[in-house]
Amino acid sequence: MAVQPDVLTMKIVLLGEVNVGKTALFHRLKTGTFSASASSTLGMETVEREFTVDGEPVRLQIWDTAGSEKYRTLTANYYRGAAAVLYVYDLSEEESLFGLVAWMDDARRFQPDHMAILIGNKCDLESEDVVLTEATIQSFYQDNDFELSLCMSAKSGQGVDACFHEVARALLARSSGANATNGYSPGVALDDAQRRESQQDGGCCS
Ligand code: GDP
Ligand code: MG
Repeated sequence: MAVQPDVLTMKIVLLGEVNVGKTALFHRLKTGTFSASASSTLGMETVEREFTVDGEPVRLQIWDTAGSEKYRTLTANYYRGAAAVLYVYDLSEEESLFGLVAWMDDARRFQPDHMAILIGNKCDLESEDVVLTEATIQSFYQDNDFELSLCMSAKSGQGVDACFHEVARALLARSSGANATNGYSPGVALDDAQRRESQQDGGCCS
């Protein structure tokens, strides 16, 4: 009997300022629900979710910071081996977007070849509370070499599955590209048309 090949598993880490909703997002992935005061204080936690992309299974192992970003004490171990970093900001806090620059410096130092994905959380908020404009997000995205820009709500669940599906797709594309060229090929994941499409799919819900 044919042996089932192992499912490709990719490490994904959440990163971003305190209060952007990383733990709420993590909690939603783990339980399918929202808790206004979800906490993960017992060291680093992970959750695994499997997605199927064009008939191929991909397992994402997602890591939350367990609050250590507050003291900027994330360790090399947190970043080590991450295929993608989800840079999470809060659509109602401008500083949470620009604050990602420092996190990008850290992540790129510890894990230089990760895929950088920009995630706007809290898209459930009323439009008057959403301070970040599409134009601001787009220019930040372009200036900082992100692979994808998506929005979601850990609270309502809107965009969450679509986002991780998109991440799985991009990683799978990159990994087949890397296999083909026997090395990392940063540009292979998505062409511009796909990128635009996925941004629309993500439904940046401002
Ligand atoms: P972390 O510090 O990045 O882990 O952020 P938390 O997950 O602890 O969330 C910070 C605050 O934002 C909490 O009060 C959450 O209830 C709230 N929050 C998280 N996600 C959402 C969301 O999608 N929408 C709204 N409206 N609030 C959220
Ligand atoms: Mg947290």
